[in-house]
Amino acid sequence: MASTKKSVSSRAKRVGKQKAAAEQRRQQRQYEGVPDEIVELLESGDILPEWDKFYRAFPTVTAAAEAVARGEEVTLESHEHELLLLEVVLEDNQPVVMTTLHVPYGTRDALLSGLFNSETADREQVMATMADLLPELLPEEARIDGVEAVVEAPAPGLLAPRFAFRFKTPAAGLTTWSSYYEATHQFSPLREAMSWMDTGAATHAEAVAILRRHGIPAAACAQCGHAVTNQHPAWPGLWVDLVPECGPLCERYDDTALTQENEIDSLAIGGPHHVLTLEEAAQAGLTANG
Ligand SMILES: [Zn+2]
Repeated sequence: MASTKKSVSSRAKRVGKQKAAAEQRRQQRQYEGVPDEIVELLESGDILPEWDKFYRAFPTVTAAAEAVARGEEVTLESHEHELLLLEVVLEDNQPVVMTTLHVPYGTRDALLSGLFNSETADREQVMATMADLLPELLPEEARIDGVEAVVEAPAPGLLAPRFAFRFKTPAAGLTTWSSYYEATHQFSPLREAMSWMDTGAATHAEAVAILRRHGIPAAACAQCGHAVTNQHPAWPGLWVDLVPECGPLCERYDDTALTQENEIDSLAIGGPHHVLTLEEAAQAGLTANG
């Protein structure tokens, strides 16, 4: 019996080895010229669909640059850690890797509040002012030479411009994507500041205060601190924040007085945001601009 067991186990081992060798051959065929770290990522199953598609199409910077030279579009949009747009483009016929990091939602909401609360006729001027002051919304260490502040006007028929920071790196001399990340490591503090889960950039009330110092009429709710506007197209005249499930409802509104013990009697439906009037702000010791 012992010999039978042994032969089963050695057969299993042989089959295992054959499988491993076949798998290796498959990978070699499938990933010819793809750097090991990218193969590992693609095989891990732990990669978002947009990155999977991008790295399969352009496994190296070299491949991306060649594709652009052939007239292909090389673009990745991902919202994994930050609102990222990675592109390879031609500038003066030279391939350039362009990274655009859109500001996180709380920063965007303050900027949109300032824009929507401005007179419609003034909006172009307001956007120009915003482009100048965008770096002030960054933490000190993220204000890096070579970073451009971008305010993209809304596409025709749309209302909201896009706000971002961008840096460009010539693709010449770069080979792998890891060589690109090494070459751009000085921008890490910017990437961190733009991270939308735990941003270091000024958001909501903090960003509103900075905008107001520049004369931009952004507003924040005195209760919840969210950036709010009363010029949302669906809710004109009512203060709303731009978080879809909240909108006109303030998450800090105190309606305990309306809550009854029995659900049948409850009048508690939440309440509105509250933006201080100039008078209230003065009473609270805040200046009109602060
Ligand atoms: Zn509120």
